[in-house]
Amino acid sequence: MSTNGKPKFAMYWAAACGGCEIAVLNIHEKILAVDANFDVVFWPVAMDAKYKDVEAMPDGSITLCLFNGAIRNSENEHLAHLLRRKSQILVAFGSCACEGCIPALANLTTPAAIFEAVYHGPTTDNSTGILPHPNVRVLEGDLHIPEFYPVMKTLDQVVPVDYYMPGCPPEPRQIGAVIDLVIEALHGQAALPPPQSVIGAGGSTVCDECPRTRHEKKIRRFVRIQDIQPDPTLCLLEQGIMCSGPATRSGCTALCPQAGAPCVGCYGPAEGVLDYGARLLTAVASVIDSKDPQEIEAILDGIPDPAGMFYRFNLAGSLLRASKAAINAKEWGVLRAEEERHAAHHN
Ligand code: SF4
Ligand code: SF4
Repeated sequence: MSTNGKPKFAMYWAAACGGCEIAVLNIHEKILAVDANFDVVFWPVAMDAKYKDVEAMPDGSITLCLFNGAIRNSENEHLAHLLRRKSQILVAFGSCACEGCIPALANLTTPAAIFEAVYHGPTTDNSTGILPHPNVRVLEGDLHIPEFYPVMKTLDQVVPVDYYMPGCPPEPRQIGAVIDLVIEALHGQAALPPPQSVIGAGGSTVCDECPRTRHEKKIRRFVRIQDIQPDPTLCLLEQGIMCSGPATRSGCTALCPQAGAPCVGCYGPAEGVLDYGARLLTAVASVIDSKDPQEIEAILDGIPDPAGMFYRFNLAGSLLRASKAAINAKEWGVLRAEEERHAAHHN
C-alpha cells in the first residue's frame, strides 16, 4: 500500500450490481484527477487490497470514501462500520446505498423464498437441495461465509453518512462535478456542502427538467409504452404512461423522458419528500379523471406491478421498508426449516 502524503480515497461495493463502479470509470479523463489528487488505498473492483490493510489504517485516515451498495449481509455491515471508522467523508454513493434500489425489492419477500428462487429454481441444477450456511464443517476445517439478512438496509440505517449521492447509477457528469468540488475543498478553494446534504443532484423534480409539453393532466386509463405510439413532445403521464418524474429528484436532465421512455425514479425522492411511493401515488391519484370509486380502481388496475412501480428504487429507505414476513423472518432458522422441508420432499 502506498504511503505518500496525498489524501486517501476508497471505494467499496456492498450489495450492488457494479453499475456505480462503471459510472465512476465513465468520468473518463477526470479519473486522472482522482489519481493525481488522491492516494487510492482501497477499491476492490479496481485494485488488490485486503480488509486487513484497511483495518491497520489509523481511524479517520481515508479522506473520501464512496460506498455503493446496500447492506444485505454481515460482510456488508462489517465493511460499513469499518469504512465509517476509517473515513473522514463517507458518501452513500448511488441508489442502493442511499435507498436500497432494485435489490431491496426483495424486502417484499422472505429469505426462504429468495433462497428457493435462487437455489431451487428451474434454471438451477441442485438435485440435493443444498443451501449455503454461514458455518460449514468440511474435511479441511470450518468454513464461514457472510450471514444473509432477511431485510436489506440502506447505508444510513447502519452507520452515520456524511453525504448522499443518488442515482442508479449517479450520472458521470455529476460524479465529475463532485470530485472537482472535493479537490477544490482540499485545496481550500471551495467549501463542502453542509453534512447530510444530497450532492451531485438537483433540488427539484425530473418534471422541472423535462422538455415535454404539459397541460392539465387528466388520465382515464394507463397504457404501456409498447401499446401506443406516444406523442414525442407531450408529457408521457398525460398520455397514460406511468412516469415517475413528479416524485423524482432532478439532476439527470430528464434523460429518459427526453429519449422517449418514462422516468422510473432512479434519482430517488425529490427534495423534502419523506416517502417516495406515497408521493408518487398522490401525484398519480390527483390526475385520474374520475370521481367514481369503482372506475378509479379500474384505472389504477392498469398500473402494472404497483409495488415495483411505486417503490422500485426506494423500498428499504421508505416508511414501509419491508413486508411483515421479511421483518419477522429469522434468517437462518427459516432457511434451515426450508432446507429440511426440501430434503424431506426429496427423500
Ligand atoms: S411526468 Fe414524465 S414526461 Fe411528464 S413532464 Fe414529468 S418527467 Fe416529463
Ligand atoms: S429520468 Fe428518471 S429514470 Fe431516467 S435517469 Fe432521470 S431519474 Fe433516472
